[in-house]
Amino acid sequence: MAKKIKHVLGLSGGKDSSALALYVKETRPDLDIEYFFTDTGYELPETNDFIIKLEQQLGYIHKLNARSLNNIDGRGEKTFKNLLKEHGNYLPSQRDRWCTVQLKLKPFEKWVDEFIADGYEIHNYVGIRADEPDRSGFMTIEKPIKSIFPFREDGIVKSDIENILQRNGLELPEYYKWRSRSGCTFCFYQRKIEWLKLKDKHPDLFEQAKDFEKGDDTNTTVGERFYWMGQGQPLDTLEDPEVQQRIMNNHEKQKARFLKKKRRNALLGDIEGFCEFSDLDEMYDSLEGGGACVTCYK
Ligand code: SF4
Repeated sequence: MAKKIKHVLGLSGGKDSSALALYVKETRPDLDIEYFFTDTGYELPETNDFIIKLEQQLGYIHKLNARSLNNIDGRGEKTFKNLLKEHGNYLPSQRDRWCTVQLKLKPFEKWVDEFIADGYEIHNYVGIRADEPDRSGFMTIEKPIKSIFPFREDGIVKSDIENILQRNGLELPEYYKWRSRSGCTFCFYQRKIEWLKLKDKHPDLFEQAKDFEKGDDTNTTVGERFYWMGQGQPLDTLEDPEVQQRIMNNHEKQKARFLKKKRRNALLGDIEGFCEFSDLDEMYDSLEGGGACVTCYK
């Protein structure tokens, strides 16, 4: 009997997964694929707007969310506040990224479990490009899920991504004007300049992030306080005009250095376009995604 295969493709609201969905639709039109978006409940309005535009191009997108796990274990609604309490009032961090497990992976697992119980093997399409390091082992959940990398198979690189969006009538999501990636409004992978921009663009969401920092005032079990920007750096510090100016000046210097390098490379034939926030990791000499999981930002 032929193996039952369910093809799924996750959209994060980022440019690579969006371009991947459009690319797979173009190049593998016979594939019966189901799109999903894991809505943490803490997405940027710009991300939600972009998902609506994508849906117009792709067709139905399943919306998975952590709150759909509501009361599964009888422990109440999975709001971030409740999750924070469950995790001892420790904010998630690069060292303990419980948010990705709770807000992204668990809803995904719950969704695919229904297919798996029905005898399907899952083929999960992932937007890792040919010009990125091999991250084929990124999926940490133990399920019969095979990752498929069409961009790697077909040699698609960063400079192809915007072309794919444009030929499908889509511009980059609006948040790229001020932030380097999709994901939660309070994501700790943000740089200080992005926190400042969040404060400016969405003051209410900045205030909400500040509120989560407070926890219940016993924000630690070892006597130290942790904040989104790291130890000893609450978001409150960004209220100080001197601090703001320093962050903006440092960012402008970093940008100037990066553009100088870009121009030098352009003389050698590298004429890739510059988009300040889409190129932010490269500008700061960081790994693309800043170490964040592809589930969150691709
Ligand atoms: S986007 Fe950031 S805060 Fe949200 S789940 Fe991913 S790593 Fe955690």
